[in-house]
Amino acid sequence: MQITSLPADDSMPGWFHTSAARTPRPAHIGQKKVRFAIVGAGLTGLAAARQLALNFPNDEVVLIEAQEVGYGSAGRNAGFAIDVPHDIGARDYIGDVTIANKVLKLNTLGQNYLRQIVQEHGIECQMTESGKYQASVGEQGTAILEAYRSGLAKIGRESEMISGKDLPDHIGTSYYKQALFIPGTILFCSLPALVKVWRIICLLMSTLLCPYNVR
Ligand SMILES: Cc1cc2nc3c(=O)[nH]c(=O)nc-3n(C[C@H](O)[C@H](O)[C@H](O)COP(=O)(O)OP(=O)(O)OC[C@H]3O[C@@H](n4cnc5c(N)ncnc54)[C@H](O)[C@@H]3O)c2cc1C
Repeated sequence: MQITSLPADDSMPGWFHTSAARTPRPAHIGQKKVRFAIVGAGLTGLAAARQLALNFPNDEVVLIEAQEVGYGSAGRNAGFAIDVPHDIGARDYIGDVTIANKVLKLNTLGQNYLRQIVQEHGIECQMTESGKYQASVGEQGTAILEAYRSGLAKIGRESEMISGKDLPDHIGTSYYKQALFIPGTILFCSLPALVKVWRIICLLMSTLLCPYNVR
């Protein structure tokens, strides 16, 4: 089989370039017959390959990747593992409560799995139980936040509305007018390092007006 359409990711996946250097294995040449072949070593392919290897230790699992592992979306995402559903097509971001509860259950299962493997393998990924802020700058956005809050209440999830004047203490900027804080999200990220860099940039630019109030 000849694959003619391959990924065309740009060359700046942040996680890929900031992780320790890895030596890719040589490409496989020739034919191979295996029970399990997975195409794509992103989060989905890696998780599937790992679970198959655990479930069927006597079978070979082949994972085929067109680029290097972590070069696609998996190596450039923001690092939020979110538990609550956010159906952006629904007025209250929740939509059908039965489906939303199933998504919540599945996401929670995924989060628990992540917590477990991070702990078991001592993975240094600055995992924090950060929660998330959904913020608005105008009236339309604020109405969406109110709707989201009532949607979350329907699935038994608490959230806290934070007014603009208090926001700098939470997120370090006075840009947003209101925000909804929703506990439950896990963040995998070297955010403290980023904030340090940003603070240094702000200090260097102190003769200019720095738009963010980084604490
Ligand atoms: C900027 C950004 C921020 C994001 N932030 C978040 C976030 O905070 N939280 C969150 O949950 N999600 C986030 N996402 C989404 C998340 O990264 C993706 O949903 C996730 O990476 C998808 O994983 P995947 O394994 O399904 O696909 P991918 O990560 O895209 O993996 C697919 C893999 O398949 C390979 N491939 C493709 N075609 C072939 C082929 N023909 N042969 C062999 N290999 C092939 C690709 O090279 C790639 O490695 C973000 C995405 C982006 C781009």
